[in-house]
Amino acid sequence: MARILVTSALPYINGVKHLGNLAGSMLPADVYSRFQRARGHEVLSVCATDEHGTPAELAAAAAGQDVETYCDEQHALQRDVGSAFGLSWDWFGRSSSPQNRALTRHFADVLEDRGLVEERTDQMIYSPADGRFLPDRYVEGTCPVCAFPRARGDQCDNCGSLLDPVDLIEPVSAIGGSRALEIRETRHLYLLQSRLQDRIRAWVDARVEWPPLTRSIAYKHLDEGLIDRGITRDLAWGVPVTRRGAPRPGFEDKVFYVWFDAPIEYLAATHEWADATGGDWRRWWRLDEGAEDVRYVQFMGKDNVAFHTVGFPATILGSEEPWKTVDQLKSFNWLNWYGDKFSTSQGRGVFMDQALELLPPDYWRWWLTINAPEGSDTAFTWEQFQTTVNKDLADVLGNFVNRILKFAETRFDGVVPQGGEAGDLERRLHVDVEAKLAEIAALFEAIEVRKAAQAVRALWVLGNEYLTEAAPWTALKTDRDRAAVIVRTGLNLVALFADVIRPILPFTASVVAEAVGEPDTPRWPAGTGESVLSRLPPGRPVRAPDVLFRKVEDAQVAEWTERFGGGEPA
Ligand SMILES: [Zn+2]
Repeated sequence: MARILVTSALPYINGVKHLGNLAGSMLPADVYSRFQRARGHEVLSVCATDEHGTPAELAAAAAGQDVETYCDEQHALQRDVGSAFGLSWDWFGRSSSPQNRALTRHFADVLEDRGLVEERTDQMIYSPADGRFLPDRYVEGTCPVCAFPRARGDQCDNCGSLLDPVDLIEPVSAIGGSRALEIRETRHLYLLQSRLQDRIRAWVDARVEWPPLTRSIAYKHLDEGLIDRGITRDLAWGVPVTRRGAPRPGFEDKVFYVWFDAPIEYLAATHEWADATGGDWRRWWRLDEGAEDVRYVQFMGKDNVAFHTVGFPATILGSEEPWKTVDQLKSFNWLNWYGDKFSTSQGRGVFMDQALELLPPDYWRWWLTINAPEGSDTAFTWEQFQTTVNKDLADVLGNFVNRILKFAETRFDGVVPQGGEAGDLERRLHVDVEAKLAEIAALFEAIEVRKAAQAVRALWVLGNEYLTEAAPWTALKTDRDRAAVIVRTGLNLVALFADVIRPILPFTASVVAEAVGEPDTPRWPAGTGESVLSRLPPGRPVRAPDVLFRKVEDAQVAEWTERFGGGEPA
């Protein structure tokens, strides 16, 4: 039994995430975690909301709430919608937790002890009217690159340039609209990433199992050269800056900045989990306390890769403490909405809570897995969603389960029939199923989620082909024993499907397992094709479930296109 630590990129606190966020980190992390649990491994799957930074403060202000109340509410919303989607985190934490505060301060202290943190004087925009500095998005103005009039202090949304607030032309306070802004000097802590360049490159060189997308992004940033970065801000919301447990002189009104504390929350969330459950978090993270045999797998979209291959490792490796670092970093391209990006402001795309108003979670989980943006960007369209749901889920999986169970109900008194011996068709099926199960497991293991889903579908197709060819309804007219063998085999396929679909379709797996009297527990089929298809004891009662998947109708597609956008060619 292996020990596997799974994390997915922390969703930012400001609102429920859209399907693109789900597809590129949280869902594949869940599918992988569920698969590994079913294999019998010890899995710890953690995630958390990323709660600090100016966007959270501005969103709270826009909502008329203090930032703590805002974060409390938004965290609960995200936790609940994740749980409704079947995301089976062992813990869904918060980067504003006391555990993260303590760990963030610890790392800042250690890094400073190693000569990797220093105080520097910065020039920042100060607003006398607001009585404060205006970091990042607290200031807006004209972009110095493209002249867009509403660029933000950290970035221009028009041309994508990363900006410094002092670069903006005609800056305006985002709080009170004051234009009477000054540039003042302020002290900040800098993490000297430039000194860690060689160390991080050597570490990346050794990560030979990283996929090409992850490696190429890491090397691009290493080749450009790491720069020293400010890790504090003139803000009130965040981890207060301390030095060895005491407030740091001159930093009483400053906090550690979000990019420094957010990834430390991976450790802190594990700490939160341990505090809540009595577990031992250090055994997952400290190489000197049991984490040598942990396999650590991270999931994220490609925009987060540089940060996880270079930025966060600077903190961990720079500490020179024996912390666990990531083994496999699975990154994803974009899921687009038709030919364009999801957009909250333009109401384009579906958010997680809205999706569940339309259809149960497994419809979405299936589409987002079999269309995961792995090799390249992928586009969601209602038309393709309709086709995939109707063909894969309704026609192939749903139809098989209902057809065989209905037949068992009407012709075999609703029990697993006895009698008869396996024939050539069954022997061929045993061989095919055994090979397909091995293929599916290898693909899940390799985190090839798209191909894994395709192979799962191919297993359903094997079942349908078998049933069509064996034709129990014909056999029943002349040879009841032969029909019994076929129906028994078909019901065993149903039981097998429950186990195999559970990582992707956990809710459907429950219904399917119950239909054939099997426990709804994670389990991966082990044994030969013959043994996994001879599991159900003859005589056991079975019962056809309600329709597993309803087809998506054209009228629904039209209604949803109207409501959520779409229609433009992909
Ligand atoms: Zn611009």
